Amino acid sequence: MKRMTGAEIRQSFLDFFVSKGHLIVPSASLVPVGDPTLLFTNAGMNQFKNIFLGLEEPRARRVTDAQKCMRVSGHLNDLEEVGISPYHHTFFEMLGNWSFGDYYKREAIAWGWELITALWGMDKAMLWATVFEDDQGTLPWDEEAMTHWLNETDIARDHVLRSGRKDNFWSMGPTGPCGPCSEIHYDRGPEHCNKQGVPGHVCQVNGDCTRYLEIWNLVFIQYNRDAQGDLYPLPARHIDTGLGLDRVTAISQRVPANYDTDLFMPILKRIQELRGHTDEEAAASRTAYRIIADHARSVTFLVGDGVIPGNEGRNYVLRMILRRAARFGRKIGFTEPFLGEVAKAVIEVMGGHYTELRRRHDFILNVIRQEEERFQRTLGVGLALLDDIMAGLEARGERVIPGGEAFRLYDTFGFPLDLTKDVGAERGFSVDEAEFKAALGEQRARGRAMQQFVAADGKELEGYVRLLEALKAQGGLGPDGVEDLSREAAELETVVLAILHDGQPVTQAAEGDQVEVVLAATPFYVERGGQVSDIGTIARHTAGEQPPRWEIQVSDMREPVPGLIVHVGQVSSGRPQTGDPAWAVIDAERRMDIARNHTATHLLHSELRYILGEHVQQAGSLVAPDRLRFDFTHGMMLTQEELDAVEQSVNDAILAGYPLEVANTSYKEAVAGGAMALFGEKYGEQVRVIRIGDPGEPFSQELCGGVHVDQTGEIGLFRIVSETSVGAGVRRIEAVTGRTAFQLVQKRLNVLDAAATHLGCPPEEVERAVLRLMGDLHDRQKENADLRRGMARLEFEALLLGVQETAGVKVLAGQVQAADVETLREMTDWSRNRLGSVVTVLGAVIDGKPNLVAAVTPDLVERGLKAGALIQQVAKVVGGGGGGRPTLAQAGGRDASKLGDALALVAGLVEEQIGK
Ligand SMILES: [Zn+2]
Ligand SMILES: [Zn+2]
Repeated sequence: MKRMTGAEIRQSFLDFFVSKGHLIVPSASLVPVGDPTLLFTNAGMNQFKNIFLGLEEPRARRVTDAQKCMRVSGHLNDLEEVGISPYHHTFFEMLGNWSFGDYYKREAIAWGWELITALWGMDKAMLWATVFEDDQGTLPWDEEAMTHWLNETDIARDHVLRSGRKDNFWSMGPTGPCGPCSEIHYDRGPEHCNKQGVPGHVCQVNGDCTRYLEIWNLVFIQYNRDAQGDLYPLPARHIDTGLGLDRVTAISQRVPANYDTDLFMPILKRIQELRGHTDEEAAASRTAYRIIADHARSVTFLVGDGVIPGNEGRNYVLRMILRRAARFGRKIGFTEPFLGEVAKAVIEVMGGHYTELRRRHDFILNVIRQEEERFQRTLGVGLALLDDIMAGLEARGERVIPGGEAFRLYDTFGFPLDLTKDVGAERGFSVDEAEFKAALGEQRARGRAMQQFVAADGKELEGYVRLLEALKAQGGLGPDGVEDLSREAAELETVVLAILHDGQPVTQAAEGDQVEVVLAATPFYVERGGQVSDIGTIARHTAGEQPPRWEIQVSDMREPVPGLIVHVGQVSSGRPQTGDPAWAVIDAERRMDIARNHTATHLLHSELRYILGEHVQQAGSLVAPDRLRFDFTHGMMLTQEELDAVEQSVNDAILAGYPLEVANTSYKEAVAGGAMALFGEKYGEQVRVIRIGDPGEPFSQELCGGVHVDQTGEIGLFRIVSETSVGAGVRRIEAVTGRTAFQLVQKRLNVLDAAATHLGCPPEEVERAVLRLMGDLHDRQKENADLRRGMARLEFEALLLGVQETAGVKVLAGQVQAADVETLREMTDWSRNRLGSVVTVLGAVIDGKPNLVAAVTPDLVERGLKAGALIQQVAKVVGGGGGGRPTLAQAGGRDASKLGDALALVAGLVEEQIGK
């Protein structure tokens, strides 16, 4: 077959059928329109169902299309093959040609053959076809199709096979249009068989190996099945075909798996770049890569068709697939949200034909990021919990995760049931689903909806979408939505466009109400790119009036759909109404703290690259008023010298008072000019570049949408407070600036001064004085330990007088004053050295709790005595338990007053054990 790109194959299919008089129709949405019985569009015919049923007139008698399809019901079994099988996907494309009562089998077969052999140059020797022959013996065999295959094409005569109902008879449902079909298979050659060497295996068309690939199914719709199951010929006969684009592309590009085609490679490459894997490392995680790539396609297309993550129906399926991809990302080492970046690659690959992906680019990425961030916060903790649960079950020999635990993972950590099942299945566990469902039902009955997850539910988000549309329609908002002036102004006069109370639009709110407020314009920054949201107030002032007529304290900001900026807060006085003029004022002092930390983050980034090397890349960041947190790629812990050097250079850049230059430019130009693109920010065509340093030669240049100081001197002081690891190859620095840095320094110096006063020395000599004190302390501790040992020796000698002998075994049991368990153990050694063959059980009260150590010499172990068994029974008396080896065991307890009673039992227990 000719080498073609996936896009070329798609286009040439459509062009070919246009040349045969077909009309190109666009793909239907993945969300079936007007068909509540279907979760997703799963075949090309879905959108033509009513035409087949005679309920609707077609726009044209011959049409062709490329259709987006999803085959996943939200159940695990749909997903098990994905990533492992070379050609099973959750999302895929079907290319089709359709005849509605127009041409029939002859043309469908002849044209199909012409396209794949004459136009695409598929090797005829490798092609096989099947026609229908009823294995139940009630329907006539499809002689007509066979005749056309033999007369209209030059396929090898012995390559047309007959096959039964399972593969070659197609029905839309239990009743309705149906008919025989004819499949075209491609023989990829014996080396593609995945069952080579399996005894008894024979490669065959519609067999069970991966050698023969079904590439095209031609369906001939000629019957109608009634409720009794009887078939009647239809007055008009139809053609419905489906060709798998991914599979044909794999054949054309001579690659073993669909994932190796140009429809998938750029997506896999993006994952590898983001993760920073070498080719070998990527190959070692191949299945995870493929699962992420497959799921990223589904997620991108689903959101592109307006599906939003949620807990029901198709919203649930989206959430489940997205979270499953996030989990596999975590498995290969991602520690920060990454799927949005992978979705960008999907849009680059598919957006040429499916232009809706480009149009909804920002919305798609926004929804994916929000969902992934929400899940990321709980994923690690949830997985660790699930691990613990499974370890506990394993220890008890159980294999079923209780439904209550699965529910807790769902409710608290956002684990869809199928995700828990998925993780469990990998280790051979199942989930008690009935119990899970019961727990879920109980919770719903209590009416405590899942607060933190409901927020992203389709219904709620739909409410925001409708609100945004309504505000635009009324003219309150322009096409770009709320005017974002967060970087231009700290306060401004604007208009209240909408107030939401309990999620519902209201025309006014009362004092004390929790509200969400939409203004025509806002100075409030909404959290993005690591920088946290502003807080502040919205109030109505009338000239000369004090206090304001009403006021709202804004405590948080959200942008649930692009363009709809929402102020979240509480009415602190008065009754705000929609249409009211309002003053929006941010907390400017807090904003200044944030700006200091943000600019300092850029300085830190640039100094880390200067001091550690160009391999340093930002891997995440938080810019809050009280601190900054910066994650970056670097293989090892920083030395104190490196940390000092970084801190020093950042402070040098601050003292130099460099101006900040803000430039708006195109993304391409910015990156070409050397600007660093930061992970996790979103960029339109126009981007904002922050330059710090000499205007001609800035040492820091970053794409950034956040707020900054005007010149570096305003940062005041920069101080690193910690340097830690957050995963393989990623380090984290936390630092403070400005007021917080000053407070930190002041507090530390005050502590130092106080310590100097206590030590009676000048502050500079505190360290030496402390070291001297520590040396003294160490000497005293050693002296003390020696004294305690001496005392224990004396005690032991006294104890030796009480050695008993029972059943020919020497037993030494008694209470001593040991300071720790270590001393108790040492005393059992003394006992063995002095007495040779002996059972020793010693007890001591340490920190108010009874402690016991038992030792049995090996000769007595051979006679059936076991230290572990012995101590368990003795410890029971003090309300505790323990264990250990047959020669040495230890135990703790709760009731120190019973220690004497417990030790008194020892001789009897020894006699008992020997007796057995
Ligand atoms: Zn085979
Ligand atoms: Zn920035």
